Amino acid sequence: MAMKSVGPIFSRIPIGLNAHCISIECHIAPGLPGTTIVGLAEGAVKESRDRVKSALRNNGFNYPNGHVIINLAPGNLAKSGTGFDLPIALAILQASGQVNIPNRENTEFIGELGLFGELRPINGILTCALASSKANKRLVMPAQNEQEASLVKGGDLLVAPNLSELIKHLSAHEPNDVRCPAPQKGAVRPVQQSTYGQIIGQLGAKKGLLVAAAGGHHLIMLGPPGAGKTMLARSFIDLLPTLSDQSSLEVATIYSSIGLERSDHTKVPFRDPHHSISSAAMVGGGQQPQPGEVALAHKGVLFLDELPHFKPATLDLLREPIETGHAVIARAKYRVSFPCDFQLIAAMNPCPAGRSCKEDGCRCGPSQVQKYRGRVSGPLLDRIDLHVQVPELDQLLLAKLQKQNVSTIDPLPQLKEKVITAMNAQLKRQGCLNVKLSGKALDAEVASAHISEAFLEKAIEQFHLSARSYHKIWRIARTLADLDQQSTISEANFLQALNFRSINWEADSV
Ligand SMILES: [Zn+2]
Repeated sequence: MAMKSVGPIFSRIPIGLNAHCISIECHIAPGLPGTTIVGLAEGAVKESRDRVKSALRNNGFNYPNGHVIINLAPGNLAKSGTGFDLPIALAILQASGQVNIPNRENTEFIGELGLFGELRPINGILTCALASSKANKRLVMPAQNEQEASLVKGGDLLVAPNLSELIKHLSAHEPNDVRCPAPQKGAVRPVQQSTYGQIIGQLGAKKGLLVAAAGGHHLIMLGPPGAGKTMLARSFIDLLPTLSDQSSLEVATIYSSIGLERSDHTKVPFRDPHHSISSAAMVGGGQQPQPGEVALAHKGVLFLDELPHFKPATLDLLREPIETGHAVIARAKYRVSFPCDFQLIAAMNPCPAGRSCKEDGCRCGPSQVQKYRGRVSGPLLDRIDLHVQVPELDQLLLAKLQKQNVSTIDPLPQLKEKVITAMNAQLKRQGCLNVKLSGKALDAEVASAHISEAFLEKAIEQFHLSARSYHKIWRIARTLADLDQQSTISEANFLQALNFRSINWEADSV
């Protein structure tokens, strides 16, 4: 048996959205046959031993007779997952002189092995591929990860279907199935009927959604059950442009970290967790760092229906991600940060009884209503720019509207065009959407607006505007001006913006 000293095989481990380089050494010592894996290897890594042994034997290789010691370095980093199967197998083949790995120093290997040597996909391949290409290394991975990997532009990536094809490739035999990931054909998008066009009436709410889309604002809807809040929320993504290449890659990386593949990478994410969701599932966490709903909604929409039914503690945890665009998860073993630049769309009923009150008129006492609404904290509500009422539509009016086919303000493609034009104007002017407009830039907007002092003073007095509310109104007014393609904010914009802050949350009925 060859016992020459050979260098380590390199691999990657994804932790959160970072992937660390791991080196794998193998030493075959004389003595009783056996295999030991050292270097803070957890569950699935320890089981690697049996998978690798079967895969090697079933592909015509010898499993060394001595004591096989595998060392995963650095030793202070906890290692989990099944991605080390392939590099461990290669380290054993190399140490026992059965295979020579060309360009070993500049190549990284990752993948789970089946008992017959087939390579199985791993979670977090995008994170690994990005890290490898940043380090100027080649990454060899399972062919089943190809679709995700194809999103990485300019990386040196190879996909292999199984161990024996890979060994043939490494031994420079004839060309085979080991190759660069093929660019994926654009997903054939099924022609979807937009829900937006199906919603009859609710022009106020629709205008709110349009403003939210154009300025990146968060929005809350207040209205009785059956008024169409959920349908409105779902239709919201119809108004948004598809994701850019950069955003698609960011979103896919987050999904890839937990093994979720997106069928259409350019589609805006829409997440609507149930109100029974745990805090960890909402903001992320777990034994291994996992993204929560806020990160899965990155570059898209987080829809929270029946907002007051969520645990207040869970809602409180949303404040920081909304403010910073990041969800930081700190545990004893790790500290990771996931991007979560999402738009919050929330909905709630006017009173706790919901449906039964709708039919017989609200019989909830003022204190019950206040307690119910109070579950949504002021600070969270403060971060939501647009407050929209979704009233129940009168059946007669509804029938009339249906007859006239008054379903929307404008046809959807035109609205989408308006949103994109307004977004581009904001990005060109200030480098961000109006939701993130700095106080200083906002002051400049206020100064240049064609609105008289007397008018503003009256508005503040009449609507009891707090300082925070006042600034929100200016931000919304700025978006309304952008939708009108106006360079300065007009009185009409300001008045319309006031409408989106006019819900009295302490009221006992709406
Ligand atoms: Zn009620």
